[in-house]
Amino acid sequence: MSSISKPLLKWFDQHGRHSLPWQATPSSPQGGQGSPANIYHVWLSEIMLQQTQVSTVIGYFNNFIHHFPNLASLANASEDAVLAQWAGLGYYARARNLHKSAKIIMQDYQGVFPDNIEQVVALPGIGESTAGAILSISFNQNHSILDGNVKRVLSRYHQVKGHYGQAQTLKQLWMLARQHTPNARNNDYTQAIMDLGATLCTRTNPDCSRCPVQQECQAYQHNTQTEYPNPKPKKNKSRRSIAMLVYQNKQGHIYLEKRPTKGIWGGLWSFMECEDNPQEINHTIQQFNAKSCINRVLNPIKHSFTHYHLTINPIIVDCPEQVLGFQSINQLKVGVPTPVNKILAQLD
Ligand code: SF4
Repeated sequence: MSSISKPLLKWFDQHGRHSLPWQATPSSPQGGQGSPANIYHVWLSEIMLQQTQVSTVIGYFNNFIHHFPNLASLANASEDAVLAQWAGLGYYARARNLHKSAKIIMQDYQGVFPDNIEQVVALPGIGESTAGAILSISFNQNHSILDGNVKRVLSRYHQVKGHYGQAQTLKQLWMLARQHTPNARNNDYTQAIMDLGATLCTRTNPDCSRCPVQQECQAYQHNTQTEYPNPKPKKNKSRRSIAMLVYQNKQGHIYLEKRPTKGIWGGLWSFMECEDNPQEINHTIQQFNAKSCINRVLNPIKHSFTHYHLTINPIIVDCPEQVLGFQSINQLKVGVPTPVNKILAQLD
Protein backbone atom coordinates (compact mmCIF):
# COMPACT_ATOMS: atom_id res chain seq x y z
CA MET A 1 0.00 0.00 0.00
CA SER A 2 1.18 3.51 -0.72
CA SER A 3 1.77 5.46 2.44
CA ILE A 4 0.52 8.98 2.92
CA SER A 5 3.46 9.82 5.12
CA LYS A 6 5.81 11.18 2.45
CA PRO A 7 3.53 13.87 0.93
CA LEU A 8 2.10 14.58 4.36
CA LEU A 9 5.48 15.27 5.95
CA LYS A 10 6.45 17.51 3.04
CA TRP A 11 3.22 19.46 3.50
CA PHE A 12 3.73 19.60 7.28
CA ASP A 13 7.15 21.20 6.93
CA GLN A 14 5.57 24.11 5.06
CA HIS A 15 2.01 24.33 6.31
CA GLY A 16 1.75 22.43 9.61
CA ARG A 17 1.23 24.11 12.96
CA HIS A 18 4.61 24.62 14.59
CA SER A 19 3.96 27.21 17.27
CA LEU A 20 1.26 25.80 19.50
CA PRO A 21 2.08 26.54 23.16
CA TRP A 22 2.80 22.89 24.00
CA GLN A 23 5.07 22.20 21.04
CA ALA A 24 8.84 21.96 21.01
CA THR A 25 10.67 24.86 19.43
CA PRO A 26 11.34 23.70 15.87
CA SER A 27 14.93 23.21 14.76
CA SER A 28 16.34 26.05 12.69
CA PRO A 29 16.68 25.53 8.91
CA GLN A 30 20.47 25.64 9.46
CA GLY A 31 20.18 22.50 11.51
CA GLY A 32 20.33 23.99 15.02
CA GLN A 33 18.62 22.09 17.80
CA GLY A 34 15.19 23.32 18.86
CA SER A 35 14.18 22.92 22.48
CA PRO A 36 12.67 19.47 23.21
CA ALA A 37 8.96 19.02 23.89
CA ASN A 38 8.02 19.23 27.57
CA ILE A 39 6.20 15.96 28.24
CA TYR A 40 4.03 17.51 30.95
CA HIS A 41 2.83 20.11 28.43
CA VAL A 42 2.30 17.47 25.72
CA TRP A 43 0.37 15.21 28.11
CA LEU A 44 -1.85 18.07 29.32
CA SER A 45 -2.55 19.25 25.76
CA GLU A 46 -3.43 15.74 24.55
CA ILE A 47 -5.93 15.32 27.40
CA MET A 48 -7.45 18.77 26.81
CA LEU A 49 -7.65 18.14 23.05
CA GLN A 50 -9.82 15.04 23.52
CA GLN A 51 -13.27 16.14 22.27
CA THR A 52 -12.12 19.76 22.12
CA GLN A 53 -10.70 21.98 19.37
CA VAL A 54 -7.27 23.60 19.48
CA SER A 55 -8.72 27.13 19.41
CA THR A 56 -10.66 26.42 22.63
CA VAL A 57 -7.83 24.55 24.32
CA ILE A 58 -5.09 27.23 23.96
CA GLY A 59 -6.57 29.62 26.55
CA TYR A 60 -7.31 26.84 29.04
CA PHE A 61 -3.86 25.34 28.52
CA ASN A 62 -2.03 28.61 29.20
CA ASN A 63 -4.14 29.29 32.26
CA PHE A 64 -3.65 25.74 33.61
CA ILE A 65 0.12 25.92 33.15
CA HIS A 66 0.12 29.28 34.92
CA HIS A 67 -1.58 27.71 37.98
CA PHE A 68 0.19 24.32 37.81
CA PRO A 69 3.54 24.91 36.08
CA ASN A 70 4.77 21.34 36.51
CA LEU A 71 3.69 17.84 37.37
CA ALA A 72 4.57 18.18 41.06
CA SER A 73 2.46 21.31 41.50
CA LEU A 74 -0.49 19.52 39.85
CA ALA A 75 -0.08 16.45 42.08
CA ASN A 76 0.09 18.62 45.21
CA ALA A 77 -3.01 20.68 44.35
CA SER A 78 -6.46 19.87 45.72
CA GLU A 79 -9.03 18.37 43.36
CA ASP A 80 -11.19 21.50 43.77
CA ALA A 81 -8.30 23.72 42.70
CA VAL A 82 -7.73 21.58 39.59
CA LEU A 83 -11.42 21.47 38.67
CA ALA A 84 -11.70 25.24 39.15
CA GLN A 85 -9.16 25.74 36.33
CA TRP A 86 -10.89 23.14 34.16
CA ALA A 87 -14.41 24.56 34.65
CA GLY A 88 -16.07 25.28 31.29
CA LEU A 89 -13.92 22.85 29.30
CA GLY A 90 -16.33 19.97 29.97
CA TYR A 91 -15.76 16.21 30.34
CA TYR A 92 -14.55 16.69 33.91
CA ALA A 93 -13.43 13.09 34.33
CA ARG A 94 -10.44 14.19 32.21
CA ALA A 95 -9.34 16.65 34.89
CA ARG A 96 -9.86 14.21 37.74
CA ASN A 97 -7.89 11.51 35.90
CA LEU A 98 -5.11 13.97 35.08
CA HIS A 99 -4.86 14.83 38.76
CA LYS A 100 -4.89 11.16 39.81
CA SER A 101 -2.22 10.33 37.22
CA ALA A 102 0.02 13.15 38.48
CA LYS A 103 -0.17 11.68 41.99
CA ILE A 104 0.63 8.18 40.69
CA ILE A 105 3.62 9.51 38.73
CA MET A 106 4.95 11.30 41.82
CA GLN A 107 4.50 8.18 43.94
CA ASP A 108 5.45 5.33 41.60
CA TYR A 109 7.82 7.02 39.12
CA GLN A 110 9.57 9.59 41.35
CA GLY A 111 7.86 12.41 39.45
CA VAL A 112 9.22 11.36 36.03
CA PHE A 113 6.58 10.71 33.35
CA PRO A 114 7.04 7.07 32.19
CA ASP A 115 8.41 6.50 28.70
CA ASN A 116 7.03 2.99 28.30
CA ILE A 117 3.68 2.73 26.48
CA GLU A 118 2.29 -0.02 28.74
CA GLN A 119 2.96 2.12 31.80
CA VAL A 120 1.44 5.20 30.14
CA VAL A 121 -1.73 3.33 29.07
CA ALA A 122 -2.08 2.09 32.66
CA LEU A 123 -2.47 5.68 33.93
CA PRO A 124 -6.09 6.82 34.50
CA GLY A 125 -7.77 8.42 31.47
CA ILE A 126 -5.08 7.58 28.89
CA GLY A 127 -6.02 5.28 26.00
CA GLU A 128 -3.78 3.76 23.35
CA SER A 129 -4.04 6.70 20.94
CA THR A 130 -3.33 9.35 23.57
CA ALA A 131 -0.41 7.35 24.97
CA GLY A 132 1.00 6.92 21.45
CA ALA A 133 0.68 10.64 20.74
CA ILE A 134 2.39 11.65 24.00
CA LEU A 135 5.37 9.31 23.49
CA SER A 136 5.64 10.03 19.79
CA ILE A 137 5.60 13.82 20.16
CA SER A 138 7.77 13.92 23.30
CA PHE A 139 10.34 11.18 22.57
CA ASN A 140 9.89 10.47 18.86
CA GLN A 141 8.97 6.89 19.77
CA ASN A 142 7.43 4.86 16.99
CA HIS A 143 3.69 4.70 17.80
CA SER A 144 0.50 5.08 15.77
CA ILE A 145 -2.38 7.29 16.80
CA LEU A 146 -6.09 7.23 16.03
CA ASP A 147 -7.76 10.34 17.41
CA GLY A 148 -10.88 11.92 15.89
CA ASN A 149 -8.91 13.75 13.19
CA VAL A 150 -7.03 10.65 12.09
CA LYS A 151 -10.24 8.59 12.02
CA ARG A 152 -11.78 11.16 9.68
CA VAL A 153 -8.76 11.36 7.35
CA LEU A 154 -8.35 7.59 7.07
CA SER A 155 -12.11 6.95 6.70
CA ARG A 156 -12.12 9.27 3.68
CA TYR A 157 -8.76 8.26 2.26
CA HIS A 158 -9.81 4.58 2.15
CA GLN A 159 -13.61 5.02 2.03
CA VAL A 160 -13.93 2.90 5.16
CA LYS A 161 -17.48 1.63 5.60
CA GLY A 162 -19.24 1.75 8.97
CA HIS A 163 -19.00 4.08 11.95
CA TYR A 164 -15.88 3.97 14.11
CA GLY A 165 -18.09 3.37 17.15
CA GLN A 166 -18.46 -0.16 15.77
CA ALA A 167 -15.70 -2.57 16.80
CA GLN A 168 -15.04 -3.93 13.32
CA THR A 169 -14.64 -0.45 11.78
CA LEU A 170 -12.40 0.69 14.61
CA LYS A 171 -10.21 -2.39 14.16
CA GLN A 172 -9.86 -1.64 10.46
CA LEU A 173 -8.94 1.98 11.13
CA TRP A 174 -6.25 0.96 13.64
CA MET A 175 -4.83 -1.44 11.08
CA LEU A 176 -4.68 1.34 8.47
CA ALA A 177 -3.22 3.80 10.99
CA ARG A 178 -0.39 1.34 11.73
CA GLN A 179 0.26 0.67 8.06
CA HIS A 180 0.67 4.37 7.32
CA THR A 181 2.85 5.25 10.32
CA PRO A 182 6.47 5.74 9.22
CA ASN A 183 9.49 4.66 11.21
CA ALA A 184 11.36 7.92 10.62
CA ARG A 185 10.11 11.30 11.88
CA ASN A 186 7.33 9.65 13.83
CA ASN A 187 6.81 12.76 15.98
CA ASP A 188 6.32 15.01 12.94
CA TYR A 189 4.01 12.49 11.27
CA THR A 190 1.83 12.31 14.40
CA GLN A 191 1.50 16.09 14.43
CA ALA A 192 1.08 16.24 10.64
CA ILE A 193 -1.86 13.85 10.38
CA MET A 194 -3.61 15.59 13.28
CA ASP A 195 -3.01 18.95 11.55
CA LEU A 196 -4.35 17.66 8.24
CA GLY A 197 -7.60 16.58 9.92
CA ALA A 198 -7.88 19.82 11.88
CA THR A 199 -7.08 22.27 9.07
CA LEU A 200 -7.92 20.72 5.65
CA CYS A 201 -9.78 17.44 6.04
CA THR A 202 -12.32 19.09 8.31
CA ARG A 203 -15.67 17.66 9.33
CA THR A 204 -17.55 19.87 6.86
CA ASN A 205 -16.22 21.31 3.58
CA PRO A 206 -12.82 19.58 3.42
CA ASP A 207 -10.36 21.70 1.45
CA CYS A 208 -9.28 18.94 -0.96
CA SER A 209 -7.80 21.37 -3.49
CA ARG A 210 -4.94 22.09 -1.05
CA CYS A 211 -4.63 18.57 0.35
CA PRO A 212 -1.24 16.88 -0.09
CA VAL A 213 -2.77 13.38 -0.33
CA GLN A 214 -5.64 14.05 -2.72
CA GLN A 215 -4.14 11.96 -5.54
CA GLU A 216 -4.61 8.72 -3.64
CA CYS A 217 -7.63 9.74 -1.57
CA GLN A 218 -10.54 7.49 -2.50
CA ALA A 219 -13.21 9.87 -1.25
CA TYR A 220 -11.72 12.70 -3.32
CA GLN A 221 -11.45 10.48 -6.41
CA HIS A 222 -15.11 9.43 -6.10
CA ASN A 223 -16.39 12.75 -4.79
CA THR A 224 -17.77 11.05 -1.67
CA GLN A 225 -16.07 13.20 1.00
CA THR A 226 -19.40 14.04 2.65
CA GLU A 227 -20.26 10.34 3.05
CA TYR A 228 -17.19 9.53 5.16
CA PRO A 229 -16.82 8.85 7.99
CA ASN A 230 -20.20 7.09 7.79
CA PRO A 231 -22.53 8.72 10.32
CA LYS A 232 -23.29 7.12 13.63
CA PRO A 233 -26.61 5.22 13.56
CA LYS A 234 -29.13 7.72 14.96
CA LYS A 235 -30.69 7.36 18.38
CA ASN A 236 -33.19 9.89 19.66
CA LYS A 237 -31.87 11.65 22.74
CA SER A 238 -34.17 11.59 25.75
CA ARG A 239 -35.19 14.78 27.59
CA ARG A 240 -35.00 15.51 31.30
CA SER A 241 -36.05 18.44 33.41
CA ILE A 242 -34.80 19.36 36.89
CA ALA A 243 -35.19 22.26 39.31
CA MET A 244 -32.07 23.95 40.70
CA LEU A 245 -32.61 25.66 44.03
CA VAL A 246 -30.57 28.83 44.26
CA TYR A 247 -30.53 29.53 48.02
CA GLN A 248 -29.63 33.12 48.80
CA ASN A 249 -29.10 34.51 52.31
CA LYS A 250 -29.56 38.07 53.52
CA GLN A 251 -26.05 39.04 52.38
CA GLY A 252 -26.82 37.83 48.85
CA HIS A 253 -24.44 34.86 49.27
CA ILE A 254 -25.37 31.60 47.58
CA TYR A 255 -25.36 27.99 48.68
CA LEU A 256 -23.36 25.49 46.60
CA GLU A 257 -22.62 21.84 47.26
CA LYS A 258 -19.91 19.60 45.85
CA ARG A 259 -21.24 17.04 43.41
CA PRO A 260 -20.30 13.38 43.72
CA THR A 261 -17.28 12.27 41.68
CA LYS A 262 -19.39 9.91 39.56
CA GLY A 263 -22.03 11.32 37.21
CA ILE A 264 -22.39 14.62 35.38
CA TRP A 265 -20.14 17.52 36.43
CA GLY A 266 -18.41 15.14 38.85
CA GLY A 267 -16.51 16.97 41.59
CA LEU A 268 -17.70 20.44 40.57
CA TRP A 269 -19.84 22.65 42.82
CA SER A 270 -23.48 23.23 41.98
CA PHE A 271 -26.84 24.32 43.38
CA MET A 272 -29.01 21.79 45.16
CA GLU A 273 -31.31 20.11 42.66
CA CYS A 274 -34.48 18.03 42.68
CA GLU A 275 -37.23 16.70 40.45
CA ASP A 276 -39.04 19.50 38.67
CA ASN A 277 -42.47 19.26 40.34
CA PRO A 278 -44.04 21.46 43.05
CA GLN A 279 -44.29 18.74 45.67
CA GLU A 280 -40.66 17.70 45.35
CA ILE A 281 -39.47 21.33 45.23
CA ASN A 282 -41.37 22.27 48.42
CA HIS A 283 -40.21 19.15 50.20
CA THR A 284 -36.54 19.78 49.30
CA ILE A 285 -36.76 23.42 50.42
CA GLN A 286 -38.33 22.46 53.76
CA GLN A 287 -35.69 19.81 54.33
CA PHE A 288 -32.94 22.37 53.77
CA ASN A 289 -34.39 25.01 56.06
CA ALA A 290 -38.00 25.31 57.29
CA LYS A 291 -38.02 29.13 57.10
CA SER A 292 -36.83 29.27 53.48
CA CYS A 293 -39.31 30.39 50.84
CA ILE A 294 -39.41 30.82 47.07
CA ASN A 295 -38.57 34.33 45.89
CA ARG A 296 -38.78 34.00 42.10
CA VAL A 297 -38.13 31.74 39.13
CA LEU A 298 -35.37 32.52 36.59
CA ASN A 299 -35.24 31.75 32.87
CA PRO A 300 -34.73 28.06 32.14
CA ILE A 301 -31.29 26.88 30.95
CA LYS A 302 -30.95 24.19 28.31
CA HIS A 303 -27.90 21.92 28.28
CA SER A 304 -27.21 18.90 26.09
CA PHE A 305 -25.17 15.82 26.98
CA THR A 306 -24.15 12.95 24.73
CA HIS A 307 -27.21 10.92 25.69
CA TYR A 308 -29.88 13.43 26.69
CA HIS A 309 -31.08 17.04 26.69
CA LEU A 310 -31.46 18.67 30.09
CA THR A 311 -33.71 21.62 30.95
CA ILE A 312 -32.81 23.34 34.22
CA ASN A 313 -35.39 25.53 35.93
CA PRO A 314 -33.59 27.76 38.44
CA ILE A 315 -35.60 28.91 41.45
CA ILE A 316 -34.34 31.61 43.81
CA VAL A 317 -35.04 30.64 47.42
CA ASP A 318 -34.60 33.15 50.25
CA CYS A 319 -32.96 31.64 53.30
CA PRO A 320 -33.45 34.00 56.29
CA GLU A 321 -31.59 31.89 58.83
CA GLN A 322 -27.83 31.47 59.24
CA VAL A 323 -26.85 28.21 57.56
CA LEU A 324 -23.29 27.08 57.00
CA GLY A 325 -21.94 26.69 53.45
CA PHE A 326 -22.99 29.98 51.80
CA GLN A 327 -20.38 31.59 49.57
CA SER A 328 -19.90 35.05 48.18
CA ILE A 329 -20.52 35.05 44.41
CA ASN A 330 -17.65 37.46 43.78
CA GLN A 331 -15.14 35.34 45.65
CA LEU A 332 -15.94 31.85 44.37
CA LYS A 333 -12.79 29.71 44.34
CA VAL A 334 -14.38 26.44 43.22
CA GLY A 335 -15.14 25.02 39.78
CA VAL A 336 -18.78 25.27 38.72
CA PRO A 337 -20.48 23.78 35.64
CA THR A 338 -21.36 26.07 32.72
CA PRO A 339 -25.15 26.10 33.47
CA VAL A 340 -24.41 27.24 37.05
CA ASN A 341 -22.35 30.11 35.63
CA LYS A 342 -25.30 31.02 33.41
CA ILE A 343 -27.61 31.08 36.43
CA LEU A 344 -25.13 33.22 38.39
CA ALA A 345 -25.15 35.67 35.48
CA GLN A 346 -28.93 36.05 35.89
CA LEU A 347 -28.66 37.03 39.59
CA ASP A 348 -28.88 40.68 40.54
S1 SF4 B 1 -8.39 14.83 -0.42
FE1 SF4 B 1 -10.00 15.80 0.76
S2 SF4 B 1 -11.12 14.11 1.69
FE2 SF4 B 1 -9.17 13.28 0.98
S3 SF4 B 1 -7.85 13.39 2.77
FE3 SF4 B 1 -7.53 15.25 1.58
S4 SF4 B 1 -8.93 16.77 2.46
FE4 SF4 B 1 -9.57 14.74 3.17
